[in-house]
Amino acid sequence: MSLEAIAHVIREKKRFVLCAHYNPDGDAVGSVLGLADMLDHLGREALCFFEEPVPVIYRFLPGSGRVVSDIGVVQGFLRAAGEEGAVITLDCGDRSRVGRYENELLAWHPVLVVDHHHSNPGFGDVNWISPDSAATGEMIFELAQELGLDISPEAAQCLYAAISTDTGSFHYASTSSHTFEVAAALVRAGADPANMANQLYNNFTPGRLRLLHDVLATLKLYHRERIAVIRVTRAMRDRTFTTLEDVEHFVNYPRAIRSVRVAVFLKETEPGHISVSLRAKGQCDVSRIAAHFGGGGHKNASGCTFRDASLDEVHGRILPLIIEGIRAHEAE
Ligand code: 5GP
Ligand code: MN
Repeated sequence: MSLEAIAHVIREKKRFVLCAHYNPDGDAVGSVLGLADMLDHLGREALCFFEEPVPVIYRFLPGSGRVVSDIGVVQGFLRAAGEEGAVITLDCGDRSRVGRYENELLAWHPVLVVDHHHSNPGFGDVNWISPDSAATGEMIFELAQELGLDISPEAAQCLYAAISTDTGSFHYASTSSHTFEVAAALVRAGADPANMANQLYNNFTPGRLRLLHDVLATLKLYHRERIAVIRVTRAMRDRTFTTLEDVEHFVNYPRAIRSVRVAVFLKETEPGHISVSLRAKGQCDVSRIAAHFGGGGHKNASGCTFRDASLDEVHGRILPLIIEGIRAHEAE
């Protein structure tokens, strides 16, 4: 199934619930808000749902105020929509990424899945999975073209933010010539790159910089400096008056060390609950390491989550697998 199949359902139906993965990143928020704006222009009704409030850093995106976090509102909307209703999940690599209300949202038919994770099993009724796309936002741009829609300045900002954040500012291996073509079209449609960069990357509190200082002090290097590990504890966040939103993109610092092939960021999200971000440069496929622990993601950017574990335990479990993954490529 494909882009055409998704466009077909959008032409047929009238009311849509749009959602993305929990702990939404720029691609999740930008894709949802960008698509919602497109559906408005198509004369459709769109309800945007996230189980938690939109992260502060993404609230400048046009339409962020329309997001609802009450699943009851979603259920009422779908009941009223009846045959005219559809649910669209964006940037969710598998069912569980939909989050706390996975069962409520996926009980509806049809569910449309639009995603760029290669491991996506296609858990919807209509699926468009495009692993070569650098971001779900890039796919939403293609959907607009398929539907014959002009991109509004508002949607252009949302989709630009999605692509900029999911490619690490056009640095990751997923960035293709097509990614730049889409970005250029979005700039023509009204996204200002300098303004977007200031909003997305130069818009933090002093506490975030103090937190970065503490986190970088935890840096450890392994396997002839090919692996870099940093960590954040709950206590560090409390001391700097920061939240988990403030650690986004920290993993790019250890990744920037010349010799590093795999960067690891261990995050104590709550006591006993550890979330791991993995980033690779070159050939090592970190999505396989994340998948080993029930996580997922892309070849160069992946993650997984542990419950009832300490930072040291997770560190001890994950490091041997990364060394093995790097050795496998060194042997080639
Ligand atoms: P991040 O490190 O920015 O949180 O996530 C990087 C990539 O890994 C994203 O594409 C995200 O979808 C995926 N990812 C992160 N954490 C998890 C997880 O706990 N489970 C799964 N399945 N994927 C994850
Ligand atoms: Mn994405």
